[in-house]
Amino acid sequence: MRKVAFTTTIPQEYIWAAGDIPVDLNNLFIVGDSKDFIKSGEKHGVPRNTCSWIKGLMGAVVTHQSEIDTLIAVTEGDCSNNHGLINLYRHFIPNLSVVAFAYPAGRDAFKLRYELDKLGEYFGVSYAQAMEAKAELDVIRKRLVVLDKLFYTKNNINVSDFQKLMVASSDFGSNLASYAKRVEDLISLSEISEPQLSKIQIGYVGVPTIVSNLFSYLESQSTVVSYFEVENDFAMLSESEDIVQEYSNFNYPYDLEGRIVEIEKQIKLRNLKGIIHYAQAFCHRQLDDVILKSRLSVPVLTIEGDAPGELDMRTKIRIECFLERLKDA
Ligand code: SF4
Repeated sequence: MRKVAFTTTIPQEYIWAAGDIPVDLNNLFIVGDSKDFIKSGEKHGVPRNTCSWIKGLMGAVVTHQSEIDTLIAVTEGDCSNNHGLINLYRHFIPNLSVVAFAYPAGRDAFKLRYELDKLGEYFGVSYAQAMEAKAELDVIRKRLVVLDKLFYTKNNINVSDFQKLMVASSDFGSNLASYAKRVEDLISLSEISEPQLSKIQIGYVGVPTIVSNLFSYLESQSTVVSYFEVENDFAMLSESEDIVQEYSNFNYPYDLEGRIVEIEKQIKLRNLKGIIHYAQAFCHRQLDDVILKSRLSVPVLTIEGDAPGELDMRTKIRIECFLERLKDA
């Protein structure tokens, strides 16, 4: 079994169908020695004024290179830093097999199928075999839909636990059985626990945060995050007939408009009173902020994070002022 690493959510169905193990480097970075990975990334040429995730992805690959056989790098539709990152991987780890994958602009189904077939060719997996793997993964995804509904209707699931589980769906923690058990455990816990409906419900949009205590701090302020935009997107919660449709429904790699439509839908469905927009320092996605603020129908607070760690006092005060505003509305 090969370990196949990747820099963002990709069609993992092909990896499972090949009998290999998917490893999302972002998960490796955030649950591992994040600060050491960042230092290692800087040591291997990633400039200091680059997003910490990129430094961490470099450091994670360098640290785990003996366990990784192949790396899938997304060259279109993901981070603009990826092109430089691929060059660094090739330079420092020449034996690592790097496979490029692109999300075609405009969600072009024909081009997406071409990209999927290229992956299939690399892994020796037909589209039909990848569809069989999708059917297996969809069983877990359907349970994630149940969990998400409990999450926003009962508000009795620990927000950090939920967020970590959704983020981990990009590779199912590299182990389907143990991931499925984590989902069932959280569902059971929510079903037997009393709902907690007195808190203000807000949503979280933007890339997963690097700040460790953001959600617990919000909870301490009588507020609960009951919608995660990108995490839900990674989990592929919407139903799809086939893999092309599944990865066309995926909003993250495409234009902002699709994200705005989905966020607005969820604001209404979940009765969200406000949105936290998380922006990573040095991330090009910060350019979305002005549009999100002008287009979304509820107040938006933008929070910026840089290195892994806890909220600073200034951001805590900004959050408190924002929440006061929501309570008064
Ligand atoms: S946070 Fe932004 S800059 Fe950093 S890896 Fe993600 S998309 Fe790239």
